[in-house]
Amino acid sequence: MTARDPRAPKFPLPLERLTPATRVRAPAAAPSGLGLDSQGVRRSMVDRLRAGGIRNEGVLAALADVPRHRFVDAALVTQAYEDTSLPIGHGQTISKPSVVARMLELLFEGSNAKAQGTLGRALEIGTGCGYQAAVLARLSKQLYSVERLKPLHDKAREHLATLREHRIRLVYGDGRHGHPPNAPYDSIIAAAGGDDLPGQWLEQLATGGRLVAPMHDARAGTQVLMVVDRGDDGYVHSRHEAVLFVPLKFGLD
Ligand code: SAH
Repeated sequence: MTARDPRAPKFPLPLERLTPATRVRAPAAAPSGLGLDSQGVRRSMVDRLRAGGIRNEGVLAALADVPRHRFVDAALVTQAYEDTSLPIGHGQTISKPSVVARMLELLFEGSNAKAQGTLGRALEIGTGCGYQAAVLARLSKQLYSVERLKPLHDKAREHLATLREHRIRLVYGDGRHGHPPNAPYDSIIAAAGGDDLPGQWLEQLATGGRLVAPMHDARAGTQVLMVVDRGDDGYVHSRHEAVLFVPLKFGLD
């Protein structure tokens, strides 16, 4: 590389190496001339998810449809289509698109979801900013989503109102109790992980229903994705890959 090479670093390499956290990250695949509202930016994100192994075309179509940048703060919009979790305030984060995609793909392998081609009546624990709720709503008949932090519950309501999402019922409460009034659910998904799977989630799962949730696995010393299927004869648990979610907390704040 010569001194005139336009690709030459703007400051000496050792300094750059010492300050990696301050490096500005390039927006993911934002083709020049296309704004974030463009379908093209989201399609690129979906192409990367497909290349990363996500096969469920329904899930990919829902992810291609939801404008993720409208769920994050203005300062973060350029990162909205990168495969990264982002802060949404109150110490919480919006999940990575690849993790959302993987969990939804797992949910679709539940018996009722497979038979009906939809997540049916679905319950989400941890609404956060409402992004995953918007994706879930496109794949379910009716979605109930519970959040324990009032400011986030309110923020999600604003975000989803802008998108005119009517299939979502937002609930302010402690999601460890699930949401008994509308049980049973064909699909239950949690966006926060504890040391156990609360008994009420299992009780509120329909026969043929499936639950996907992060949970601390003491043996592995890490959080893993747990899948529970409810059949005629009871529950079948299976453990999947390691993940990193915010803690599932008790009560309201
Ligand atoms: N699905 C969200 C991810 C939010 S992060 C999104 O797309 O943005 C997980 C959320 O779970 C946080 O908002 C946190 O407040 C919430 N949470 C943690 N414990 C909870 C509980 N017991 N009941 C309801 N929500 C809970």
